[in-house]
Amino acid sequence: MDVSELYRHIDGMEDMMIGLLSEIVSVPAVGPASGGDGEMGKARAIEARLREMDLGQIVHLDAPDPRVPGGMRPNLRLDVKGRDRNSRLVVMVHMDVVPPGDPSLWVSDPFRLVRDGDRLVGRGVEDNGQALTAVVFALKAVKDLGLEPARDVTVFFVSDEEESNELGIGHLLKEGEFRKDDLILVPDHGDPEGRVIEVMEKTLLWLKATVTGKQCHASMPHLGNNALRASMEFGSRADMELHRRFPDRDDRFDHPFSSFEPTKKGPGVDGINILPGEDSFHFDCRLLPQHSKDDVMAVIRSVAREVGDRTSTAIEIEEVLSETTSHPTSPDSPIVRLLSEAIEAVTGERPVTGGIGGGTCAAILRNAGHEVAVWETILNQAHAPNEHILIPNLLKDCKVIATLLLLAGTARPDAM
Ligand SMILES: [Zn+2]
Repeated sequence: MDVSELYRHIDGMEDMMIGLLSEIVSVPAVGPASGGDGEMGKARAIEARLREMDLGQIVHLDAPDPRVPGGMRPNLRLDVKGRDRNSRLVVMVHMDVVPPGDPSLWVSDPFRLVRDGDRLVGRGVEDNGQALTAVVFALKAVKDLGLEPARDVTVFFVSDEEESNELGIGHLLKEGEFRKDDLILVPDHGDPEGRVIEVMEKTLLWLKATVTGKQCHASMPHLGNNALRASMEFGSRADMELHRRFPDRDDRFDHPFSSFEPTKKGPGVDGINILPGEDSFHFDCRLLPQHSKDDVMAVIRSVAREVGDRTSTAIEIEEVLSETTSHPTSPDSPIVRLLSEAIEAVTGERPVTGGIGGGTCAAILRNAGHEVAVWETILNQAHAPNEHILIPNLLKDCKVIATLLLLAGTARPDAM
């Protein structure tokens, strides 16, 4: 395959790509839990453009949601036929965005794409507009040049990634949309060089600790029981104990240890002379794959019992959220090998595989038993004010995906 013509063609489509990004940025697609109307407007815009480009067959897999106008959260499936009808490449992108946050932190209207040299600024340009645009134009480039994808290709444009995933990927899983041997790419996390293919995430555990003593006037401490003092002791003991009991190092992760961070604080009392009767705070824990959430809960509960007994307070530990990642993707899996080949073809450099602290929707697919590669080239601007991307990264990722579409590779390692 002579790819130089393909890459030249992609470079020539820069203005059209920015046009699509501009269009989708201008339709806010914020989920109802964040006060938005959902993704239907944006899905319509994307569908119209896909039909115009005549890229393949489009199927709606919408999920009912009474919280949004129209009552539906859209999910689109675009099917493109390839040479090998028994193998399928799946690319998953999401349409929803997070709200802009404090508008005074933005230098421009978040829902209007602004170009500043090589930079494109707007809510959702990185998360997940760049990847969405890259995959659409990769398909267009392949079609324009009369080429045929090596295998069947399905692109899912999903809703609800930023909130619960239940009405997006979760809905597709329930509907049986994935096959065991799909080659799945989720371009929704990456690094500025596009050097790392993410194949695993840590197990996530969010905890809330509530310490109850007895409130009184601070001048008469013998009449109460200071919950903040017990809470501070518990917090630092738990922190030390967790780090002592789970010291393992795994250099495949960007942060190579389990992490246990005290984060959000409860409001506490609002007067300096009030001895607090209650105190609460949270731990954000991210565990290497060899540790389980139950091991961590056992340690933290035993510290809570000890400190509670000694200080005559009640220390309650509550699990706010947990996401166990039980099935890391093998660096030898067909999707990782094929993607590595595509990246090397475009950049001349072999990527590496690694893990992150968590937060991509790939975890749900991996837990359902699928092999998933997470990769793209981004500045890690997601959810930030003045979210921006670089046009050269958009073009590069488009070329990598176009190459991935064409590479036959060896879908099964044992076929080598
Ligand atoms: Zn995202």
